[in-house]
Amino acid sequence: MNAKNTIISEQDILPKLNTQLFINGEFVPALKGGTIDVLNPTNGTLITQIAAAEAEDVDRAVVAALKAFEVWSEYPAAERGRLLLKLADLIEEHAEELAQIESLDTGHPIKDSRRLDVPRTAACFRYFGGMADKIEGTIVPVEKGFLNYVTREPIGVVGQIVPWNFPLMFTSWKLGPALAAGNVVVMKPSEITPLSTLKIAELIKKAGFPDGVVNIVTGYGQTAGQRLAEHPDIGKISFTGSTQTGRNIVNSSAGNLKRVQLELGGKGANIVFEDADIDAAVNGAAWAIFHNQGQACIAGSRLILNEKIADEFLEKFIKLAASIRLGNPLDPDTEMGPLTSDLHRDKVLSYAQIAKEQGGKILLGGKAPDDAALQNGYYVLPTIVEAKPSDRVAQEEVFGPFVTVLRFKDDAEALEIANGTEYGLGSGLWTNNLQRAHSFAKKIKAGMCWINSYKRVNPGSPFGGVGKSGYGREMGFEAIHDYTEVKSVWVNVDAQIPPHFHRGE
Ligand code: NAD
Repeated sequence: MNAKNTIISEQDILPKLNTQLFINGEFVPALKGGTIDVLNPTNGTLITQIAAAEAEDVDRAVVAALKAFEVWSEYPAAERGRLLLKLADLIEEHAEELAQIESLDTGHPIKDSRRLDVPRTAACFRYFGGMADKIEGTIVPVEKGFLNYVTREPIGVVGQIVPWNFPLMFTSWKLGPALAAGNVVVMKPSEITPLSTLKIAELIKKAGFPDGVVNIVTGYGQTAGQRLAEHPDIGKISFTGSTQTGRNIVNSSAGNLKRVQLELGGKGANIVFEDADIDAAVNGAAWAIFHNQGQACIAGSRLILNEKIADEFLEKFIKLAASIRLGNPLDPDTEMGPLTSDLHRDKVLSYAQIAKEQGGKILLGGKAPDDAALQNGYYVLPTIVEAKPSDRVAQEEVFGPFVTVLRFKDDAEALEIANGTEYGLGSGLWTNNLQRAHSFAKKIKAGMCWINSYKRVNPGSPFGGVGKSGYGREMGFEAIHDYTEVKSVWVNVDAQIPPHFHRGE
């Protein structure tokens, strides 16, 4: 049997794990020796223990990064690009190992880690590797006699804080543009899912990046994360996580007025119009919410259906959702794994009760599976709830395999519902009417809009949100620009300026 068709054993993955901090090119324990348990989401057992960085560990990582900046910022841009391309090659060489680590740690079905997370991670490093020597300045027509040129320079030490839902991919989204632009990085992965990022650290060393250019400090948000956000020598924080933590980070960053880029929560509106290709929309809507157990900021968690097609749509959608195979993420047949932590599973399940209390109707799921083999894991059944736009399940981010169905009569009502939350991240439209599609894409309050599709990402396309979904963008030129400081240089070429002050005429 092909190895890719077999269920992988956790025991085979354990020897490949790194568990220490990565500072100045070395794997080292935390200064105080603290550790954090990393648990297997399929059964709650201990996978391993990682080092718990505290403020002093972050401080020494920043010292290493500051020193490395002197070297890295002077590297020829093409050489920075070459190292990023080499890293992309190494990720492909270690693809299977990375996919296994990611699935073990997060609960992503291995099928998805192999075909999505790992290739997207390599593609992101490759994209930004190619971009490193294409960061251009401009010349501005200012006053007669002056040449004004504008350059883009690296910011310096950048702090990056990553959540638990797509740790491998987000590591590349953050490191790629920062390094290509000549910055050095201190990154804190989520304490819940740090393992794939620590594997990337090993590959960074193997690729030959100078020591200290990338430092990984695993630790809790309140300690290591907080120190990164407040550190006076860090020039920018890039954060992906919840809206509440984003707010804390903005407050902590105020001391040195560091730049902040925030990728926060979402409540994706996925609108199906009466003229849509229903089968395609049913499939797309299932992907939009059930991929990665719905633990995606861009998840299509509000399914907004034209009332004329709602019943037909729901019949097919419920049937498809009910057929999704839950199981061990290391089994290639699994389509939905467990949620990543027990606390989070409890939060997601609590929303079924909240929905009922406000008059919502559970059309499917709303509970953990009965299957005996899944009892010890953090599983939740695909859940479909019908509710009103003002209900909590239509307003708050659940971040699980939990979709709220809302019906509309006409386009005006669809837009009102779609734009009726505080978030604005991903959104989707299913229609064959070209004019309607573009008109909605313009009016919808979101950083991203997919037409007759959902949840597409590409390193060339800017990713981010509006409102309480954050600000700044990852990926594309926008990201690389966000990792640079602009400098405007004025050169007197042949301007005639009177000496000293103007006096008289
Ligand atoms: P979280 O905010 O709890 O944690 C995110 C990271 O911040 C973790 O590394 C955590 O340790 C750290 N952290 C926690 N408190 C901190 C503090 N006071 N100071 C500094 N760092 C701190 O989020 P999470 O539960 O890990 O992730 C889920 C959330 O992330 C969801 O709301 C989801 O929508 C959001 N998310 C957004 C995007 C996006 O691109 N917009 C992508 C993925 C996830």
